[in-house]
Amino acid sequence: MAVSDMVSWVIGRGPAALAHLDYNVTEHCNLTCVGCDHDSPAAPPRMVDVETFRKDLVAFKSASRVRELRILGGEPLLHSRLVELLQIARSVGVADKIVVFTNGVLLGRAPDGFFDAVDALYISKYPGVVVGLPRAELVRKSRKHNFKLSILNCDTFVERLIDTEITDKARVARIYQTCTIAKNCHTLHEGRFYKCSVAPFFARRLTKLGQAVPQDIATDSIAIHGDGGDAARVQAYLKDTTPLAACRWCLGSTGQEMPNSQARLRPLQRRGDDINPPRFRRARRYAARLTAGVRRALR
Ligand code: SF4
Ligand code: SF4
Repeated sequence: MAVSDMVSWVIGRGPAALAHLDYNVTEHCNLTCVGCDHDSPAAPPRMVDVETFRKDLVAFKSASRVRELRILGGEPLLHSRLVELLQIARSVGVADKIVVFTNGVLLGRAPDGFFDAVDALYISKYPGVVVGLPRAELVRKSRKHNFKLSILNCDTFVERLIDTEITDKARVARIYQTCTIAKNCHTLHEGRFYKCSVAPFFARRLTKLGQAVPQDIATDSIAIHGDGGDAARVQAYLKDTTPLAACRWCLGSTGQEMPNSQARLRPLQRRGDDINPPRFRRARRYAARLTAGVRRALR
């Protein structure tokens, strides 16, 4: 499937709408999933400024309708003004639905206002990690506050981020053309619009690795303020079949599946009967072998 066919527009009555728009309100996380494709375990604490968030949504609204605004991170519940952000998203009216993706650890501390503000709550349940509210309580809240609840067991990850540049252009093109993230995870991040959820954090990651950030990174995204908020420009950007600079350090959907594991778990986040240390040690060894294998293959 060519990327030009992959653009996730939903055609209905009125102008075409984007199926999803992701917004990462935090970059850091309270978990340390091995293989996190936002590179959140290594990210310094960073929360989006409330006014920046509002301005970005207002600007994007003039470019496209959105079916579902997806609030993510890092871990979005680490944002100290999350309820306010959700209320702003609602009042701007950029999307038909506002949904939050969370690892669930902090749900026990979430106020009623949080549950009132979401249309759907997607909880990624990682092995050995305790969700902050029991399932029965979450079901009760979903009925009381009228939101859709989805709890997804995330036992495996796809190996995606790599530390070595892929110099084979044909291979980069194949990775990009088959990348489902480029289709499903268009991301608005601090004034810029990206085709995928990996690209916004690409420069931070290369800098952390001590590598130079390539000049063509400028074309990985478009500004959405000023002329960038133009609908035709957003559509042209999404239909462009040129791989991103970030694709040269990414396996897209072609990476191998590996068991999810945490690099470390703090006592608050784990429950003895959920933890199986030998399993996690195996998972980490498997992930390390995969990474080494990918590096060898790219030499
Ligand atoms: S929960 Fe895991 S995959 Fe999700 S942002 Fe945190 S570290 Fe990454
Ligand atoms: S960087 Fe490229 S290959 Fe990786 S997720 Fe984004 S579009 Fe896909």
